[in-house]
Amino acid sequence: MTRYVYEFSEGGRDMADLLGGKGANLAEMTRLGLPVPSGFTVTTDACREYLATGEEPGELGAQVAHALVELERRTGRELGGRDNPLLLSVRSGSKFSMPGMMETILDIGLGDVSVLGLVKATGSEHFAWDSYRRLLQMYGRTVLGIAPELFDRRGSTDDPARLVEDFKQVIRDATGEEFPQDPGAQLYRSIQAVFRSWNSERARLYRRREHIPDDLGTAVNIQVMVFGNRGPDSGTGVAFTRDPATGARGVYGDYLPDAQGEDVVAGIRNAVPLAELERLDPSSYRQLIDHMGRLEHHYRDLCDVEFTIERGTLWMLQTRVGKRTAEAAFRIAEALVDEKLIGEDEALARVGGAQLARLMFPRFEAHAETKPLAHGVPASPGAAVGAIVFDSAEAVRRAATGEKVILVRRETTPDDLPGMVAAEAVLTSRGGKTSHAAVVARGMGKVCVCGAEELTVDVEARTLTAPDRTVLAEGTVLSVDGTAGTVHLGALPLTDSPVGRFLDTGERDGVLTDAVARTLEHADSVRHLGVRANADTPEDAARARRYGAEGIGLCRTEHMFLGERRGLVEAMILAEDEAGRCAALDALLPLQRADFVGILAEMDGLPVTIRLIDPPLHEFLPDRTELAVRVATHPTAHDRRLLAAVERMHESNPMLGLRGVRLGLVVPGLVEMQVRAIAEAVVERLEAGGDPRAEIMVPLVGTVGELRIVRATAERVLAEVSKASGLTVDCPIGTMIELPRAALTAGRIAEAADFFSFGTNDLTQTAWGLSRDDVEASFFPAYLAQGIFATSPFETLDRDGVGRLVRIAVEEGRATKPGLKIGVCGEHGGDPDSIHFFHDTGLDYVSCSPFRVPAARLEAGRAAL
Ligand code: PEP
Ligand code: MG
Repeated sequence: MTRYVYEFSEGGRDMADLLGGKGANLAEMTRLGLPVPSGFTVTTDACREYLATGEEPGELGAQVAHALVELERRTGRELGGRDNPLLLSVRSGSKFSMPGMMETILDIGLGDVSVLGLVKATGSEHFAWDSYRRLLQMYGRTVLGIAPELFDRRGSTDDPARLVEDFKQVIRDATGEEFPQDPGAQLYRSIQAVFRSWNSERARLYRRREHIPDDLGTAVNIQVMVFGNRGPDSGTGVAFTRDPATGARGVYGDYLPDAQGEDVVAGIRNAVPLAELERLDPSSYRQLIDHMGRLEHHYRDLCDVEFTIERGTLWMLQTRVGKRTAEAAFRIAEALVDEKLIGEDEALARVGGAQLARLMFPRFEAHAETKPLAHGVPASPGAAVGAIVFDSAEAVRRAATGEKVILVRRETTPDDLPGMVAAEAVLTSRGGKTSHAAVVARGMGKVCVCGAEELTVDVEARTLTAPDRTVLAEGTVLSVDGTAGTVHLGALPLTDSPVGRFLDTGERDGVLTDAVARTLEHADSVRHLGVRANADTPEDAARARRYGAEGIGLCRTEHMFLGERRGLVEAMILAEDEAGRCAALDALLPLQRADFVGILAEMDGLPVTIRLIDPPLHEFLPDRTELAVRVATHPTAHDRRLLAAVERMHESNPMLGLRGVRLGLVVPGLVEMQVRAIAEAVVERLEAGGDPRAEIMVPLVGTVGELRIVRATAERVLAEVSKASGLTVDCPIGTMIELPRAALTAGRIAEAADFFSFGTNDLTQTAWGLSRDDVEASFFPAYLAQGIFATSPFETLDRDGVGRLVRIAVEEGRATKPGLKIGVCGEHGGDPDSIHFFHDTGLDYVSCSPFRVPAARLEAGRAAL
């Protein structure tokens, strides 16, 4: 026989799957000997069966009846009795807390007879009839589904006995039925109503947002009622064993004299600080502090509790390991280590990379939460205030005068880079978390909200139109919250981040930075995964190193072809003969070399993986339409040639076109130039007494044949530079694995590769057939809403599909070349969940933008626990 009912004395904290979090913890408190009103829990099994079949399991009725008899025996009171009747609460409680999302029914057991018993027992007509009135209202709304307004409309008298009659009439009118006087019927139907509330719209919505599975079901807790609203010696409150906002030691909470728990939760009346209870009822206060101390020791963590005092007697109604801010999480974990309640491993397990990331950036002060002007995708965290500008040049111009600006674009392109550097934040109306704006902003640690589709950006008119039709001109001050994904009108007050300062300078300024430092040290001591950074300037390399990066896993050389060098790239593309192309490449060579020298110097002694140019060349040419207009209005020979080139190179699917290794194979001299620049930079660093560790990486390889050809060229150039310099320039030559075919033929590709690095951005794009640039703004929201994705596969690695390709490539690559070094440099390298996968798959390192390096170190440590 399946058991569907457990008395509190039979359960325990490790039974949350079956009893829900609330039931499991009530059981645990009961077993600890704390004063918990008696009761029992109906299991999630029963709920699941009810939801699947529409009927509760056959044995449930008898098991509830049995538990009820036991409860009546233990309390010496009878449900629905004439004297001192037993009253019950019926509350939901699933494995994961879903605050306020499901139903509660109080005062079960009251009826026309027992209400008189309650009057006698309590000596208060008002209290008894008011309790009956509450039951009718809650039961009517929850069990019978009557609109709450129908009760509110009737609720025009202060006499609770009259209201009881009125509310019975409401029930009669709405359902054609009488309110059941049988307390057993009240109880069963309330249990069913709680089961059903698992599938209420708000509960479903909440679960989707919190990634809670839909098939868990809720348990139902049936418990003897205690009353905090029985006069000045009664009351109710919530308390935390430490401050959940800061993590500071010392109990913290609110107390509401002469009130029911529901009044506190609903915020109906003003509570007093918990310290006030010490004055009002010192004995209960001391007991409460004592119980909370025991709970914290027992759970070895911050606990929150709900309690009620009924006529001087303290009752514990709920406890759980309490929610806390990121700051409190770090402080409490390390404080518990100092108090010898937990070890460093457990402290590390209790914090996360996402929490660390939240602490690294300035924030808007909590009280400054105003209604946002618009919402978008929270693409790069932090908070920034500035005047809006609509192009890169204006951003640069204003920033040069010291003005703080926010660059607003429909979407960004590599052309916007100078403006992004100059701006405090980037705001776009299109694109998702892997759009150009998002990736580049994250790389620079700039605040970014993208895909704010409610905003209309008119670059020509230099205006931004808000959803309420307000038109904002250039120069209007906005506040952008990249952590929340919101945009606000005006300047919200900012708070600085001590953790960000610490990570940048090593300067510790208090308990929080101490706690973060200790946790990171421990993570570094246990992790197996290396952590590198994606960086392509000496400044980013330096910052990455300060943040603890152990090298560069991806230096995107195309970023070095922008700005004034664009002319040279144009010349290379337009060259009509070998000589012209060579001249253009020769002009690029010293510039590239100087870039590499700077980066290798910053990363001296650590590996620097330099990737050969990747994007389609037409990205370096002007926009086709603009150019066509120019040629039509003011034709010049140069523009005509340029337009011809743009048209020649136009592709319908550039992401699947002439890019990556394909460029090196069709543009003569390009690979030579880049490899020479790398080799000569190595020579220059060696001659300066440095320890350069350049690695050459080939993008978008689909077959070993491509890699073999590029490798031969690269080896020839390395040999030439070695010979010319008299020094040994020995750079490992590896490949990105970012096409499904590369993953599936990794065994062959490994024959020609010294290392692999997964480009999971392209691998996700090509495995799913989803454009990384468009998809988040187009049908993603629909997919998320319909539960096809829980999160974007561009953000968190899709383990089943893309992850399988990764596993195959690791296995087959290492079968060919045991010990082959393998990393990942797509955006997933900085994503907490994905980092655990890369650890489990046996990768050697992850590489992510510099600002994600600390969180990656932390998660790599957690993955190794
Ligand atoms: C990738 O595809 O994952 C990658 C790192 O390369 P990029 O983002 O530059 O295409
Ligand atoms: Mg790529």
